[in-house]
Amino acid sequence: MVATELAARTGRHDAPAAATEDPRVVIVGAGFGGLSAANSVGRSAARVTIIDRRNYHLFQPLLYQVATAGLSPADIAAPIRGIVRDQANTGVLLGRVSAVDTAARQVIVENKRIPYDFLILATGARHAYSDADWERFAPGLKKIEDATAIRAKILMSFERAEASDDGDEQRRLLTLLVVGGGPTGVELAGAIAELAKRVMARDFRRIDPRGARIVLLQSTPRVLERYPKRLSEIARASLERLGVEVRTDARVEHVDATGAVVSGRRIEAGTVIWAAGVMASPAGRWLGAERDAEGRVKVGADLSVAGLPSVFVIGDTVNVRGKAGRRLPGIARSPSSRAGTSRSSFAPASRAGALTSRSATATSVTSRPSAAPRRSPISGSCALAATRRGCCEVSPTSFS
Ligand SMILES: Cc1cc2nc3c(=O)[nH]c(=O)nc-3n(C[C@H](O)[C@H](O)[C@H](O)COP(=O)(O)OP(=O)(O)OC[C@H]3O[C@@H](n4cnc5c(N)ncnc54)[C@H](O)[C@@H]3O)c2cc1C
Repeated sequence: MVATELAARTGRHDAPAAATEDPRVVIVGAGFGGLSAANSVGRSAARVTIIDRRNYHLFQPLLYQVATAGLSPADIAAPIRGIVRDQANTGVLLGRVSAVDTAARQVIVENKRIPYDFLILATGARHAYSDADWERFAPGLKKIEDATAIRAKILMSFERAEASDDGDEQRRLLTLLVVGGGPTGVELAGAIAELAKRVMARDFRRIDPRGARIVLLQSTPRVLERYPKRLSEIARASLERLGVEVRTDARVEHVDATGAVVSGRRIEAGTVIWAAGVMASPAGRWLGAERDAEGRVKVGADLSVAGLPSVFVIGDTVNVRGKAGRRLPGIARSPSSRAGTSRSSFAPASRAGALTSRSATATSVTSRPSAAPRRSPISGSCALAATRRGCCEVSPTSFS
């Protein structure tokens, strides 16, 4: 049992506040990592508090569908309180954490200090730009607000093109750039193409949405570069069949209100979307812990932080390596299970919501948006280039 394991470890290092009371487990972040951890300690002898700046869990894998008008925000958000309703030992606190006082073992949440015996930080990641100024012109996709802003931007570009009498301006407005050919960029570019060329094809009178130019820009030689080469090629071909212009070895050098400069050449565009890099949450800074270049905390095999045996970091905020020594990717699955550390304190075990595939699990969760995520029978990663067309790497095999 997780709490017992925690208590045993506590005995070795530092005692809980009162020996007779159940240990206080504070989890910061109710994303995939935080909920997975909450689930695994949910029936233990522990007093669990989940702290999040939002009152809902966000199913990020389907954000791109909200951004392209396929789903509404309510379809991909579920109240945290509803998810842990049946866990009697678990409470929820709404608030933004700004620091951790590791000496006093307290989490600073706005004007409150929340004491802990064990702390799990699962505060995720956000997008990162080569130039911070570009964020104003090229929104990334991480929150509901990002998705609705991108959706408004895309739809307004078509409306403004319809209203414009200037051919050049129409062409600019109907040019959409997606920066970053990882799974998110591939999914976004495919979904935008389907929106323009299929869903909206007959909705306008003066413009033809099918003529919209959707360009996917990837700075390296192939899209989905973490996947086997064969899948990258299949994804590229799927996108091209949809009419997406895939440009590899294309480096974005500048972004502004009317377009971008790509490998020395300017592209006028009405919409630029950023899917090209992430930066971990500041959790590592709160702890003064060792971090990688993207701010991910370096942790031990049990996900604890060096010198802070009662503090664990999980999810996108952590740098953890798999058996082959490769850094495990940021996916909707807790790194404890990715690392295969079955004795880890927070291994989600059979009850947990270990989401494994980029698409397969998406369907299972969205069909029951208020339920806790379910375990997928497979382990791997998929990217959907278009409806019914995707690439999956499910170790030891891959398919499309
Ligand atoms: C557009 C997109 C598509 C994706 N598609 C897939 C996919 O198809 N399949 C897949 O497996 N993975 C996918 N991922 C990756 C996956 O969503 C992440 O790996 C996963 O969400 C990481 O979980 P996490 O718990 O570390 O962080 P998150 O799920 O991001 O949760 C972090 C939580 O911490 C809270 N928080 C952050 N800072 C604070 C603070 N200071 N105080 C209080 N609360 C705070 C946030 O509100 C949030 O609830 C996608 C990601 C994105 C952005």
